[in-house]
Amino acid sequence: MTMQPRERSSELYEEALAHIVGGVNSPSRSFKAVGGGAPVFMERAKGAHFWDVDGNQYVDYLAAYGPIITGHAHPHVTQAIVKAAENGTLYGTPTALEIKLARMLKEAIPSMDKVRFVNSGTEAVMTTIRVARAYTKRNKIIKFAGCYHGHSDLVLVAAGSGPSTLGIPDSAGIPKSIAHEVITVPFNDLDSLKEALERWGEDVAAVMVEPIVGNFGMVMPKEGFLEGLCKLTREYGALVIYDEVISAFRFHYGSAQTYHAFPDHAAIEPDLTALGKIIGGGLPIGAYGGRKHVMEQVAPLGPAYQAGTMAGNPASISAGIACLEVLQEPGIYERMEAQAMKLVEGIQAGADRCGIPMTINRIRGAFSTHFCSHPVTNYDEAQGSDAELFGAYFRHMLDQGICLAPSRFEAWFLTTAHSEEDIDRTIEASNESFRRMAIK
Ligand code: PMP
Repeated sequence: MTMQPRERSSELYEEALAHIVGGVNSPSRSFKAVGGGAPVFMERAKGAHFWDVDGNQYVDYLAAYGPIITGHAHPHVTQAIVKAAENGTLYGTPTALEIKLARMLKEAIPSMDKVRFVNSGTEAVMTTIRVARAYTKRNKIIKFAGCYHGHSDLVLVAAGSGPSTLGIPDSAGIPKSIAHEVITVPFNDLDSLKEALERWGEDVAAVMVEPIVGNFGMVMPKEGFLEGLCKLTREYGALVIYDEVISAFRFHYGSAQTYHAFPDHAAIEPDLTALGKIIGGGLPIGAYGGRKHVMEQVAPLGPAYQAGTMAGNPASISAGIACLEVLQEPGIYERMEAQAMKLVEGIQAGADRCGIPMTINRIRGAFSTHFCSHPVTNYDEAQGSDAELFGAYFRHMLDQGICLAPSRFEAWFLTTAHSEEDIDRTIEASNESFRRMAIK
C-alpha cells in the first residue's frame, strides 16, 4: 500500500497549535514520547481501519486507548446511538436504559451490588476514593507505581503511561499536602505493600490497583498477588478498589476479578470497582460500583456527594448496552486471542531475526511490545525498555499504515473487526520495520 506524505496532518497540527493547547485534547495523543512532530489527523474510521486527512488508510491497534473493542462504527452500536439521538440525547431524569446497563454490569461483575454511572474513568476512580474515605473515615490511599488511574489529584502520583512518558512524575498544581496522602509501592510486590500497611495502615482508606495492568504495558499480577493484596488490605480495615477501566470486558465477558486465570474469585473480590472505556461503546462513560453497604455512602442515600449533569445520558448508555451485546456473541474473545497470538509470534520472530531485543506481554487479545530482553512485571522493568527503539518502530509502522499508540507503555488492542489480512499486513510491516531499524 503506497502512503502519501502526511502534509494535511502537518498543516492541521500547525493550526491546532494556535487554538488548542499543545494541539491535542489529551497529552497522550501528541507524538512527544516518540520523537515529536505532527500527530496524524484522522478523518474517518470503520471496523479496524482509519483514514487520515491525506487519504492514507491504517490498521488501528490503538482502539482509542481501549474502548473500541467492536471496531469503529459497528452497525449494532451505531444504530443504538442513532436511535438514542433521535429520542433526545439528555433528559436530566432517570431512564429505563440505565437500569438495563447497570444490570448487565452487575451480572458480569457480581462484586458490584450497586452501580453509579459517571462520564469518564477519571471520575469513576476519583469517586471510589471519596466513597472509601467516607466509609472508613480515613484519608490515605496506597497505589502502585506506574498504574494510571485518571487525572484526579490524588492518583496523579507515579502515574503510568501518559505522565511517565512525559516525564511528569507528579503534575504541577497538586498541593504537596494531597501528595502526602498517597503512598506508592511497586506492583507485584506484596512485601512492600505489607511494609506500607505496617507503617500507615491505620490511616489507609483504600488500596487501589489495576488488577491486570494496562498502563505500563500489559502486566499480569503474579500468582497470589491479588489474594495477598486483598487479605493484607482487609487486615488493616482498608478497602480494596479495583480500577478496571481498561480490564473490564477486555479479556472476556466480565472483568479481571472474574477472569478464569484467577482460580479463587472469592479471594480477590474488591469492595469497589471503577469502570469506563468499553462499557460506553465508544461514547463518554464511567461507572463505579461495589458492596451495598459501601455504596450506600453515596448521595442521596449517604454523606458522600457525587453528581453529574451528563451522567447516564441515553446515548452513552445505549452505545454501552449495544457494545456489550456484541461481546456476548460466542467466540468473540477466542478470535481476538487467536489473532493476537499470531501477531505476537510474527512480531517476536521478526525482532529475533534482526537481533532487536523484544519482550511481549500478551493477555488474550491485548499485548505490549517492550524493547528490552528482560521480563516486564513492574513499572521499573517497563521503564528499562528502550524508548528510542520504540519511537523508531512506531514511526516505521505508521509510515506503512499501521497505527499504534505513540507510547511504549500503551497496549496494542485487537478488535472484533480485525481480519486475517490485517494481521498479515501488520506482520509484514513489522518485519520491514525491524529490517529498517537493523540497517540503521
Ligand atoms: N484508569 C485506567 C486504568 C485507565 O487506563 C484510564 C485511562 N487510560 C483511566 C482510569 C482514566 O479514564 P478516562 O481517560 O476515561 O478519564
